Amino acid sequence: MTDITINAAFDSGNIEVLAVSGATATLAIRKDKDSDFFQWFHFRVAGAAGRELVLKITGLAASAYPGGWTNYNAAVSEDREFWGRAPSSYDAAEAGGTLTIRYVPQGSLAWFAYFAPYSMERHHDLIAAMALEEGVEHRELGYSLDGQPIDCLELGEGAKQVWLYARQHPGESMAEWWMEGALGCLTDPADPVGRKLRRLCRFHVVPNANPDGSCRGHLRTNAAGVNLNREWASPSADKSPEVLCILQAMDQTGVDFAMDVHGDEAIPHVFLAGFEGIPAWSEGQQAGFDRYKTILARRTPDFQTRHGYPVAGPGRANLTMSTNQLAQRFGCTSMTLEMPFKDNDDLPCPAQGWSPERSVQLGRDCMAALLEWLEG
Ligand code: ZN
Repeated sequence: MTDITINAAFDSGNIEVLAVSGATATLAIRKDKDSDFFQWFHFRVAGAAGRELVLKITGLAASAYPGGWTNYNAAVSEDREFWGRAPSSYDAAEAGGTLTIRYVPQGSLAWFAYFAPYSMERHHDLIAAMALEEGVEHRELGYSLDGQPIDCLELGEGAKQVWLYARQHPGESMAEWWMEGALGCLTDPADPVGRKLRRLCRFHVVPNANPDGSCRGHLRTNAAGVNLNREWASPSADKSPEVLCILQAMDQTGVDFAMDVHGDEAIPHVFLAGFEGIPAWSEGQQAGFDRYKTILARRTPDFQTRHGYPVAGPGRANLTMSTNQLAQRFGCTSMTLEMPFKDNDDLPCPAQGWSPERSVQLGRDCMAALLEWLEG
């Protein structure tokens, strides 16, 4: 039998081929440029029809989140529309930590990724479609180190300044799927939640804060290997122009409500992280965040409040992270939304795990929760 071939020379591709024998491949993930982070992978396999592929991604004990690989199944697609899951197993003792993916494609081609990818082409399709919607204004807040625009969509006639931004960590592609749901709600003329929100708020939506990392197939950093969600205390034009231009725009509008959209590698649940531990923390500000969590948990079974990150003690907040910086800077209700790479273990879906479709739905549910929160 001929050997399969493996390729990642495309938008958001990332894999290194160490060896191929028949339908078995030994692989490794390339580090983010000028960084030690790695976890995102995305590649295609050719010559695979009807054969059981055995794909071994090695060296994962050194990845950014080794805890992400247990109880994890790789995302797979043959038509690049529907993303299912391929049975995968992790052995920490094999070749420096190995994820073994097994899958039998029907056709000759199959794509594998850490999560269903969200390409820059799809990003431009989203921006173009939304910019054509009535009442939507598009502006470029600035440019990435590679010269890509930082796109922002603005809509609504209300007084509340709402900022939604995603993909500071480019490998967390579920964050931009979430944006499709949120923007779909806000721009659908038949959606009463969107119509009401547009009366109450002015929305500023940045669907992709890190286009360079997205193109380059990075997990966590931009073209200079900088983790953008550690730049918010003092962003700079030479290291983090993406954050600099967003924060400057926020300073112009002010911020009443902010949501930073992410994915979490290890925790199999959807959760929110807040701004406990900022110097300016107050009970009233905290109550606003807690109330949003309560509303969202009631509105969707895909959200919960039992599992999440440890809360920072008084005065211990990291102000280089956007949620803390914005809560401190503007006194606003600010939060980080985390979706799983794995699944919501309270409501698992064996076929797809956490998926683009569920991320889109959560985006809509988060907008409905925002309306209830504003009216409460
Ligand atoms: Zn993240």
